[in-house]
Amino acid sequence: MAIIVQKFGGTSVADAGKIRRAAQRVIKAFKSGYQVVVVASARGQQTDELIADALELNPDPPERELDQLLSTGEQQTVSLFAMALDALGYDAISFTGNQIRMITDNAFTKARIKSIDAERIHKQLDKGRIVLVAGFQGVDEDGNITTLGRGGSDTTAVALAAALGADKCEIYTDVDGIHTADPRLFKRAVKLEQISYDEILEMASLGAVVMHPRAVEFGKKYDVRIHVRSSFNEKNGTIITHEVPQMEDIVVSGATVQKDMAKIDLVGVDNKPGNAAKIFARLANAKVVVCDIIQTEVSSEKANVSFIIGISDLATVREAVEKIKGELNCEGVFVRDDIAEVSVVGVGMRTHYGVAEKMFGALAEANINIDSITTSEIRISCVVDKNQAEKALEAVCLAFELDRTPQQRTKKY
Ligand code: ADP
Ligand code: ASP
Ligand code: MG
Repeated sequence: MAIIVQKFGGTSVADAGKIRRAAQRVIKAFKSGYQVVVVASARGQQTDELIADALELNPDPPERELDQLLSTGEQQTVSLFAMALDALGYDAISFTGNQIRMITDNAFTKARIKSIDAERIHKQLDKGRIVLVAGFQGVDEDGNITTLGRGGSDTTAVALAAALGADKCEIYTDVDGIHTADPRLFKRAVKLEQISYDEILEMASLGAVVMHPRAVEFGKKYDVRIHVRSSFNEKNGTIITHEVPQMEDIVVSGATVQKDMAKIDLVGVDNKPGNAAKIFARLANAKVVVCDIIQTEVSSEKANVSFIIGISDLATVREAVEKIKGELNCEGVFVRDDIAEVSVVGVGMRTHYGVAEKMFGALAEANINIDSITTSEIRISCVVDKNQAEKALEAVCLAFELDRTPQQRTKKY
């Protein structure tokens, strides 16, 4: 029998009424002949509330304890969901990450999945049960509860779909699908019918919280067909697929803005082999994910190294930099915690020119200064002042006609 994984985000299970509504969707899939696995997030804003509770008692809570606490949000949802299904006359059973042996590494608050015991789930499905799995959580080899990072329930769902060999993975959320930009920040953003794994991976890594980046990685690696759609209506959402040739005609698929970033400049580092390696080895040791790196040789003796990180890692990075700056003979360290990164993403950039010019021109016209620029094959990112982030996003979206569907746009760039 074909398996479907359906994931419901926080807003889709925020209260009893919404859980019942989500349960109806699950029943519909079950009745149409699927074996159904449901992944659910914590209800409403519960994860934020639990974090606030933790911070009230300890401004720097031990990460193991934070994960132990945060995992309870998802555990509550799946048991309530199973009760709702039971009340509607369906046999359902809920599991925590630990109970299905969702084994992760021990990087608390941002753990990565290593393996899953799919057998336990298959057995329950074969008994005719609907299986519910708490999203966002796993367990390390020593039995400590871990979490996968904010938004990580998407990853639970896609990883389960891969491990179970599911036919489909549906991500139910509070928007109609993946849009050209966050519709909360750019109201005229339009829904995309489809998007490639590579594009949504870039967008997700650059602040589009609609999908957790690791979920997209799993999807691409294991060929999981992902359908991102609204839990509040029946409309088709966005299909995430492998790239098809027509996608190359769409130069820019989306734009993003990421605000919770910081930029560190190490100015006048000794220009000799091994120094860059030393810096990033320290950061890797401290489990810091670095988003962008720019190194420039300024003379035969000196180089400048800049990098961008998530602001939650800033204290750890400051500490690491403090320890190593003497060794690098670094002349100065500058930190900016008031930045935002605005990006445009599209696989068509590989084959079309003029995107950079268009983006920088749009920012200039809006009178927004660019602090630094980084690129990949399919994206261009500009660091700007945080207080100009929305204005920058709007300028860029309008320049690339992201208020229209790809078919309605008048120009290629
Ligand atoms: P859930 O709780 O269902 O996982 P999230 O809040 O994590 O929901 O993700 C959905 C939100 O993602 C939307 O409400 C929207 O504000 C935001 N978002 C950011 N970028 C995009 C985008 N490009 N397309 C659609 N939604 C986006
Ligand atoms: N509840 C977690 C969060 O708010 C995980 C998720 O929703 O995906 O980040
Ligand atoms: Mg989410």
